[in-house]
Amino acid sequence: MLIRREIEVQGIVQGVGFRPFVYRLAGDCGLAGLVANTSAGVSIEVEGRPEAVANFLQRLPVEAPPLAQITRFAVRELAARESRGFEIHPSRAQEPARALISPDIATCPDCLRELFDPHDRRYLYPFINCTNCGPRFTIIQDIPYDRPRTSMAPFTMCPACQREYDAPRDRRFHAQPNACWTCGPSLQLWTSRGDPIATSDPIAEAARHLVAGAIVAVKGLGGFHLAVDAAKEEAVARLRQRKRRVEKPFAVMVASAEIAGQFCECESDSLALLESPRRPIVLLPKRLPHPLAEAVAPGHRDLGIFVAYTPLHHLLFAAGSFSALVMTSGNLSEEPIAIANREAVERLGALADYFLVHDREILRRCDDSVVRITSGRLRQLRRSRGYVPVPIFLNEDLPPVLAVGGELKNTVCLAQGRQAFLSQHIGDLENPEAFRFFEEAAAHLERVLEITPQIVACDLHPDYFSTRWAWRQKRMECIPVQHHHAHIAACMAENQLEGRVLGIALDGTGYGTDGHIWGGELLAADYAGFERLAHLEEVRMPGGSAAIHEPWRMAVSYLAAHFGRAFLDFPIPFVREIDPPQTNVLLQMIERGVNSPLTSSCGRLFDAVAALAGLRHRVNYEAQAAIELEMALPQGNDDLAYPFPVFQQATHWVMGTRDLFAGIVRDLQDGSPIAVISQRFHNGLVQAFVRAALLARQRTGMDRVCLSGGSFQNTALLTRFEACLTGHGFRVFFHSQVPAGDGGLSLGQALVAAHQWRRGSR
Ligand code: ZN
Ligand code: ZN
Ligand code: FE
Repeated sequence: MLIRREIEVQGIVQGVGFRPFVYRLAGDCGLAGLVANTSAGVSIEVEGRPEAVANFLQRLPVEAPPLAQITRFAVRELAARESRGFEIHPSRAQEPARALISPDIATCPDCLRELFDPHDRRYLYPFINCTNCGPRFTIIQDIPYDRPRTSMAPFTMCPACQREYDAPRDRRFHAQPNACWTCGPSLQLWTSRGDPIATSDPIAEAARHLVAGAIVAVKGLGGFHLAVDAAKEEAVARLRQRKRRVEKPFAVMVASAEIAGQFCECESDSLALLESPRRPIVLLPKRLPHPLAEAVAPGHRDLGIFVAYTPLHHLLFAAGSFSALVMTSGNLSEEPIAIANREAVERLGALADYFLVHDREILRRCDDSVVRITSGRLRQLRRSRGYVPVPIFLNEDLPPVLAVGGELKNTVCLAQGRQAFLSQHIGDLENPEAFRFFEEAAAHLERVLEITPQIVACDLHPDYFSTRWAWRQKRMECIPVQHHHAHIAACMAENQLEGRVLGIALDGTGYGTDGHIWGGELLAADYAGFERLAHLEEVRMPGGSAAIHEPWRMAVSYLAAHFGRAFLDFPIPFVREIDPPQTNVLLQMIERGVNSPLTSSCGRLFDAVAALAGLRHRVNYEAQAAIELEMALPQGNDDLAYPFPVFQQATHWVMGTRDLFAGIVRDLQDGSPIAVISQRFHNGLVQAFVRAALLARQRTGMDRVCLSGGSFQNTALLTRFEACLTGHGFRVFFHSQVPAGDGGLSLGQALVAAHQWRRGSR
């Protein structure tokens, strides 16, 4: 007796070798039938003896290819029709439904072997790939994922490539970017003005220039990198100067995880992460001494390091004598990364000495992802290449909603049903280029996911570019979401929490419901709403955003708030170092409340402490002072903490900072080292919030705490919070799939807006 079954598979099943896998498995099981990509995923029909079909159904989810991720799997009975053989059908566009697109995947070991095999027909071919590796998200124009809808469309496969593509047992069967020396994309080396340089080996030539200390712009998967030999101090310094990037650390690329281990302290989990097919930049402690230029990550304990992920990268390392390359985004300061060849020459011509380009177009800009491992878990700092567009899986159904994120480190999120898709890292929307990218990224997500949002969620801040854009969209209902509520909701969503939780949201800036700038908050929140239970004591932020760039302003503000002008007589270095006329202007602004909004920001508190402790008065990049205060911590921890009392104010609690600053001033007078001050500050801050959380638990009975916000990128702060809260019997939740900072904000906005919309429409 024969039976026939139809199997609908949803999830990441296109562009990951799923159909060839099904073909082989059906063959193994002795089944006839067919497999096809649909816009919903993959549709399979199998026919054969019942035990053979059962065997197939059992093995299908277990043996699926490594990059596949099955989210839904439905089996339906069909009438047997005695078909013979197993066929792979061309893609069919169907009813609107979502097929998940694979992210870009690093060159696999099989392809690497062929790349360096002199007898292989793709020996040294810089665009080698297969069904298990290569570009995906960045070359897709539309779905279903098939060659004509990718930037491989202009390249017609040669007979040899076509044979592989058509042969179900070949590992390039239906590999859409399949190509070779005869038929595929090719490389060129250009001068800084975009003139091609005549050479038979552009890679060897580029490698020679890198060895000589030149800056080479290299076209990658999701955009251009600017590359220099990371061991050459003056080359790295020149890159900094041309890129106008003073101190912010550069990431370095190496040929293998083994080599990364020579530069950084790698545990087995970080080695696995470095070599994973997603190939993020991993932040790891520098091994000291190490042979890289100091200018790569000046003053930093950690180094951002990643392993070559395209054939071109591997060939560059094979051709040059360098062991590490600085590989920084091909852009000027905060602009989006350049992706097109001519655009790159226009924008980067003054930065790069040479351009290593190719003719496979990048359709989707996608920066490198940045991650680290803290408390044994992956932490996203920038979620982009390799992770996008893998969805965050939710435990409830959402209406179609688009969330547009914040202002800095922007991402957008498009959600429907049980899936939330975060875009790649977009950047700082004040930049017009980045804003265009923002619109483009949102439109592309809508198209390839076939989601038409009914709701648009945005930040409460009226002046964010994303907020203003959201209010202009007449086709959707606009729902503004408070910044820290969104942070906590993002943490809840990725942990699949329901109900009401306590939320500690610590960051630099977020618009509050009272128009003040929040950022040191304890909330009670569910998806639909929140209550502000406690916050850091508010002070003035003299000069508004100027205070973000000049932490000394915040130190003056705290001192003036707590001690009046009397602090000017304190015998501490900070008072001696500040400029009296400037300080006087600042004090007048504070006293009169001119251009000095009130803030409870945790980031600004870090700034003030860092400046007061003598670390720096001005920053060159976001959060630099806070990062340096963290780096000043001694190894190991003790319980010493500045007093940081919690007192009741009307309906909520305030964490007072007067005793904290009195303590720091005393330590400065005694000449205590910065390490001690940093330690006592970190511990005091944690203890203040834990005391507030204990009060909140008493009042509400809640014992789940979600931690979120950019300040938790501070590993020491995160681990102290986790330890202290857990020690007091709280259940603590944090991020691992999306960034704790504003890069994860859009996820929370989507959840909150969906819930508020549902409540409103009932
Ligand atoms: Zn491969
Ligand atoms: Zn070919
Ligand atoms: Fe934030």
